[in-house]
Amino acid sequence: MGLLQQVFGNGARHCQVSLPTFDDVQAAAQRLAGVAHRTPVLQSSTLNRQLGAEVFFKCENFQRMGAFKFRGAFNALSQFTPAQRLAGVVTYSSGNHAQAIALSAQILGMPATIVMPHDAAPLKLAATLGYGANVVHYDRYQEDAQAIAQDFCAREGQVFIPPFDHADVLSGQGTAAMELLQDTGPLDSLWVCLGGGGLLSGSLLAAKALSPHCAVFGVEPEAGNDVQQSLAKGERVRIPTPVTIADGAQSPQVGAITFEIIRRHVTAVHTVSDAQLVDCMRWYAERMKWVVEPTGCLSLAALLQAAPALRGQRIGVIISGGNIDSQRLSQLLNS
Ligand SMILES: *Cc1c(COP(=O)(O)O)cnc(C)c1O
Repeated sequence: MGLLQQVFGNGARHCQVSLPTFDDVQAAAQRLAGVAHRTPVLQSSTLNRQLGAEVFFKCENFQRMGAFKFRGAFNALSQFTPAQRLAGVVTYSSGNHAQAIALSAQILGMPATIVMPHDAAPLKLAATLGYGANVVHYDRYQEDAQAIAQDFCAREGQVFIPPFDHADVLSGQGTAAMELLQDTGPLDSLWVCLGGGGLLSGSLLAAKALSPHCAVFGVEPEAGNDVQQSLAKGERVRIPTPVTIADGAQSPQVGAITFEIIRRHVTAVHTVSDAQLVDCMRWYAERMKWVVEPTGCLSLAALLQAAPALRGQRIGVIISGGNIDSQRLSQLLNS
């Protein structure tokens, strides 16, 4: 089955397969200019000394709404036609994509409906409501959020923007790695948090263009290694919703478009345990004075695991987000 057939069904049989490219990432960067923050690239001299390497952190925990997801959401919504803006946007998300869509819709003056799990982090729910979105709840272990969201679109004419498997979304996400590489110049390796693959596939487009010899690693939770399994099998594997503290990487299946880009360009996918994520959260909090959510710790956790092989390297680490409420943060740090 061809890619577009997988994505859009048999109706797309005669369409040309066209994956997004670095041009789309650059176009996204222009739409985001003056709207998204150009987040800082920071270093720890202590860590550099310990690893015998140079590590550059791209701090998307300091992005608007607290995660890189603002980039993809705003890039997608800013391209709506006037009629689409009037009807508004629908999506599903366990958190950060919801906030990203809600904030982008508010900036662009369009209505947003978000299908969210009833057990979503309270801070993420409150933020989504705070940006003026309409929230519809579902059970993440029982119901299909995408089906609920698409049902809304069918009935009310809104446009569905998925959290990762969309050309405009992943092109927007790629602007974070693009900015990092613009600031650092070529890198030897780049470590990227991985859920449905929007951030990783966008990062791959940027790295391939700006630092073609850079090894790019995706990092997913041990409990949910569906991308690792998918690469081994050569096709997308669906797993039960993984139980992990990395709530931004609980997607049961990688996207069709994102997987196509990942399988062509990724160096490898690594996994880390929840305990390793907590160790990294503690290190970020104590040493760097940064709040990083568990999913945002995936990249550093895998880098530390691989560190002996990385001596002498110039290394990029994307910190994907910082949204965690204080109660959960203290609970995990004291665990
Ligand atoms: C969504 C998210 C991820 C995973 O991104 P994908 O594009 O789904 O792979 C990682 N970290 C954070 C903080 C996120 O919100």
